[in-house]
Order: sequence, then structure tokens, then C-alpha cells
Amino acid sequence: MAYPIQTFDDLLALVKASGRSFDLEQMKQAYYVAKDAHKEQKRKSGEPYITHPVAAACILVELGMDTPCIVAGLLHDVVEDTEITLEEITKLFGKEIANLINGVTKLGKVPFSSREEQQAENIRKMLIAMSEDIRVIIIKLADRLHNMRTIEYMTPQKQRDKALENMEVYAPLADRLGIRAVKEELEDLSLRCLDPMGYQEIEHALELHKDERSDFIEKIKEQILEKMEPVILRVYLEGRVKSINGIYRKMFIQGRTMDQIYDVYAVRVIVDTVIDCYNALGIIHDLYHPIPNRFKDYISTPKPNLYQSLHTTVIGSEGIPFEVQIRTWDMHYTAEYGIAAHWKYKVGVTSHDSLEDRLAWVRKILENQTENDATDLIGTIKSDIAPESVFVFTPNGEVISLPIGSTVIDFAYAIHSAVGNRMIGAKVDKRIVPIDYQIKTGEIVEIITAKEGSHGPSRDWLKIVRTSEARNKIRQWFKKERREENIIEGKEELERELKRNSIIVPQNELYDMIQPYVKRQNCSSIEDVYAAIGYGGIQLWKIMHRMKEDYVKQKKAIEPTLVQEISKSVESPKIKASKGIVIEGMGDDCLTKLSRCCNPLPGDDIIGFITRGFGVSVHKRSCSNVPQDIESCQEPERWIRVQWANQVKEEFKTTLEIVTEPSTGILMNITQQLYSLRISVHSLNSRELKNGTSVIYATITIHGLDHLNMIVTKLSNIEGIISIKRS
Ligand code: MN
Repeated sequence: MAYPIQTFDDLLALVKASGRSFDLEQMKQAYYVAKDAHKEQKRKSGEPYITHPVAAACILVELGMDTPCIVAGLLHDVVEDTEITLEEITKLFGKEIANLINGVTKLGKVPFSSREEQQAENIRKMLIAMSEDIRVIIIKLADRLHNMRTIEYMTPQKQRDKALENMEVYAPLADRLGIRAVKEELEDLSLRCLDPMGYQEIEHALELHKDERSDFIEKIKEQILEKMEPVILRVYLEGRVKSINGIYRKMFIQGRTMDQIYDVYAVRVIVDTVIDCYNALGIIHDLYHPIPNRFKDYISTPKPNLYQSLHTTVIGSEGIPFEVQIRTWDMHYTAEYGIAAHWKYKVGVTSHDSLEDRLAWVRKILENQTENDATDLIGTIKSDIAPESVFVFTPNGEVISLPIGSTVIDFAYAIHSAVGNRMIGAKVDKRIVPIDYQIKTGEIVEIITAKEGSHGPSRDWLKIVRTSEARNKIRQWFKKERREENIIEGKEELERELKRNSIIVPQNELYDMIQPYVKRQNCSSIEDVYAAIGYGGIQLWKIMHRMKEDYVKQKKAIEPTLVQEISKSVESPKIKASKGIVIEGMGDDCLTKLSRCCNPLPGDDIIGFITRGFGVSVHKRSCSNVPQDIESCQEPERWIRVQWANQVKEEFKTTLEIVTEPSTGILMNITQQLYSLRISVHSLNSRELKNGTSVIYATITIHGLDHLNMIVTKLSNIEGIISIKRS
């Protein structure tokens, strides 16, 4: 595959042929600056170096890029490889172009050390995150593509390295941005380096049947056109053969032979409107026999890279299957050039107010193409361009991905718990940073560790770390290494909490009180329970309620007269009920309201938030507005424990005797009604009586007479119930 050398005149000819308007003066200036700067340098092929940036700029014109992008393409190697500085570029060409060149230079320095799949994905995401302007990546792809076209002058080892990088990082990146032409060419060129024999085999096979193939495609095009022209206003047909890499993957990886690959041949139908697309599909399925399960509607469900088309595979008149792709012109343009196709909308800087601008081009695409799921698309774009994650390097060049806001401690624990536990400090880009330093994409992070046997993590770290992985590993360490300390701390903490809840237990009874929790908490001894409380494995507030209940029940059994007093002391004065919600440590007049975001219902696990001036708002514990980990949220003290009032009231068991008409559905209706009232049912029996009616005995838990009356009223509304009474 010989590629002709492209000159600046070729570039100008391409510009002219594109029919778009460019700043030719600035392009010329850039060309002369680059030519002069690189004048001493030669490519490995022996050509003057300037041929490379010119060729890259030609690719950018073909991709439909704008003047700043093409100018930056011409100058993309001067800062890296010549005396010219970024300041000079800024002075000559302005900040926008300087930023593009700076971005390309920075991307060139991304190290590649690991070749695992995950790593490649991280690198792809990082490249997107690092380049604040997506055009930087498009320039990088053009640079990459031209280097691949002239790869034969490199050493075989270098060829393979570059080819692998393309396969794992750059081609998927081009795919992600929807730039099909670049993706396929990069893949084919890389495949030729990685498996020259396999590549030639396919190239040869394709060559062998070239005439038959073009006859076949021509014939199909004629047949389709004949049927479509009377029905659809304007139809454009295009025949093509799948890319060599595409065939290769199916042949060698999926173990198919050339004629088992359905889509070696493809015919593209391009029409004006979406309705025409579906009409065209109907005509195709009428004309040929469709292969089942091969139809895909990417118009109603676009691919993440915005690709849209209808795909179907049918069998042609000679029994040869082929794929048909149907799309509008807009879709076609997007399918070929992806993000580059919509270039006039700048995808700019990362500050928040520009998010609107950044999404403007997405909206534009949505306007041009109908019937999309807009939210889905914007979601995908957003998460890629303004990612939730940061990507940083280890000193060895491995990429570690962490949530935004992660600190160097999180990084240390992400590498290994041993690194975290021995950490005494950290360097970012070779500078010492404080331990709560939040890492940013592109930084190289180095953890300074102490020798074995040193002091280990600090409890304060639990408040600093962002990831639960780090938090768990720190707790784990305290669990293992500080058992004695944890036991003492855990016991003290428990005693404090019991006191706070007015549960007064003498030391010799404490043992019996805690004993049931050994099993419940999957511990093997009471000391284990204390230790777990100490390191945070057991959170006291989660078990305190149960402890109180048990305590009261136990006392009831032994000293019935005391019960009243104790339950009083448990419920008041510390706990007051307000609108059915009990708040610990609050006065009677405390204002509560159920938050609208999650509408908690009695029985839900709930939590309160002390608002500024509006009392306590009550949320479900699982509400998205409640931090998952309260201890490490911004104002943990404003989150307080609350309970449904009926949960601390006494509970009674009672049995209802329900007589019903003979009907099969009644029992189900009763259980459904009880379930929707959140009543716990202990037993439910049904028996048919001689006169044909049935009697049902239901033993349920109630909180008092009012509650029982309410239940009976609700149940009486069920059709077919004759009577209800307490048995
Ligand atoms: Mn270059």
C-alpha cells in the first residue's frame, strides 16, 4: 500500500474541493512556520519532516475539521520536536491554537506499560478527560493515522508496539467518537503489522473474486433501485466490502470461513427522511428473504457513539447473504465522521458554565435526527466528557481510576492494602503533598511508605478517604492489628450508649445482655463484639433499638411492675413523638415533616435531617439525598436517628375470626390487604363450614384498639366477607 506524498498544494486542493471556507492566510503562515522549524529534520523514510504534519492536516480537512484544527495539525510537532515554544505559538496564532497544540503534546507523553483490557479502557477514558477540547484527540488520531501509513520504515518491534497501541487504544477511541473511516484504516494498517500472513490471506481472497463481487453488488443495486425509485423520492445506493480487520476477526477469532460471514458484502441505502428508511426496509424484506435475528434498529436506539441506521441481513438471488444498511444523509455523515461531523460546535473547557455549550452540539444532533432517546445520549456524552472519575498514574505508568475527590490515601489503598497501611506520605508529580490532597487526572502519584512494623494508618484517615475500599481496608487494619485497643474502646462506647438510652445494667448482667449479639453479629465471642464496635464493624445505632426492646421484654418477664417505669424511661423524656415520628433527644414541640423526595411510609427505615429553621425533615434511609456513609458526610451532626412512633409502642397479638362467602379469591384479598397495611401476620388458617361458608383465623400484630378497629374496617370492605370478630 503506497501512499503518495502530500504537499501543501495538495492540502490547498483538498480545502478547495471541500467547498467550505477557511482562513487560507493563517494556514499558509502555519505551513511556513512548521516547514522552517522542522527544516533540519527528516522522516525515517528520508522525506523532509514537513511531509508528516502536512499529511496529518490533509486528514483533518477530509474529516471536516475547522481552520484552528488544521493549523494546529500543521504545527502539532513543533513544540515537542523543535526550538519553538508555546509562548511563540500563542503570540503568532492565538490561545485557541496554542491550547490545541499543547493538548496534543501532552497526550504524546501518556505512558503505556500494561496491555490489559481494563488498562486500555482507562487510557481511552483518560485521553478523553485530559483533552479539554475533543479536537485535540482528533488531531492526535490524524497524527497516529499518518504515522501508521508510513510505519514500514520503523523497526519490526516498534511496528508491533505501535500497532498494538492502535488496536487497544486509538482505534477504539476513534470508534467511540464515531469516526469510522479512521477506525477502520487504523485497524487494517495495524493488522498488517501484527499478522501479515492473515492479512494477506484475506486481501488475496478478496482480490481473487473481485470481478464476481462487483458484479454481484451491481446486480443487487439494480434490483433494489428498480423497486425503490417509484416509491421513494431520492435513493442513493452504495456497495461495499467489510474491512479486512472486520473479516479477519470473524474468520480467525470466531472461527468462520469467508462464506460464513454474512456481511462481507454490504449495500448501503441512503434516503432523505426517517420514514423513507422504514419504507426502504419494507421494500428490502419484500424483495429478499431476511435472515432471522439479524435485524437491528439503531435509529430508535442509537449506539453510544451516536451511530444510527437500520441493519438487516438478507439472502440474495444466488443464495449469497449480504447486509443492508439503511440511513438518512445526516445519519450517514455521523456514521462516517462521528463527532468530527458536527464540528462547528465547540466542545470546550471544563468549567461549569460551559457545560451548556458543550452539550449544544449534542442537542443539535438531536434536532437534526428524529426519534432519539435524548436523555440517554446526553448521559453517555456527559459521563465521557465530564467524567465522574479521575485517572492518575503510578510511577511505573500504570493507570489507576478513582472517583472524583479521592485522596492520595485512596490511591495508596487502591494499589494494595499493604501500601496504604505503611503509607507515611505522598508525592504528586514529584512534589510532597499533604495526606488529604485530592488527586487530579493526569498526575503521577507516588506513595512514600515506612518500613515494615511501623505505626499503620490513623483513625482520622476514615474521615479523609473518599472510597469505601480504602475505608474498609483501614477498618480491617484496626480490626486485626489493634484488637486489645478495640475491645476496650468498643466496651466503653457500648456502655456510654446504654447509659444514654437509660438502660442501666450492672457489670455482672452486661454479659447476658450482650450474649445474644455474639451470634446475631456473626462473632465468636463477646470480646469479638466489643472489638467490632471498636473498629466500626458493628455500628451501635443499628443495634441499640433492638437492645432496648430486649431489655424491656426481659424486665417485663421478671418484674412486671417495673416494666411501666422502664418503658417510660426508655421512651421519655429523651424521646418524643411528633406526627407519628419519634425523634431522639428532641422536645415535644419539634416540627417534623416527611420529605417529598422519597415519601417515607410507616415501616420504612428512616432518618432525620435538622433543617435550618424548618424542623426535622424525615427521609427514607435509602433516599438518594441521604449520604450513604453519614459519619464521613459534610455535617454528620445534622443527621439524627428517628423512628416511627408505632415502632416503640407496645405490640399485641390478636386473632381475628373472619367468616366469608364461598369464593376462591377471598383469602388472597385478605392477605393482600393486610400486607398493604404492613401488618405482620403470624398465622392464617382457613376452614370450610358445612353451610358452604368459610371461616378464616388470622393471628396478627396490632398496636392497640384504634389500630385493630382500623384493620377491621379495611377488611370489611373486601367483597364476600360476612363477619369479623376477635376470637
Ligand atoms: Mn506527529
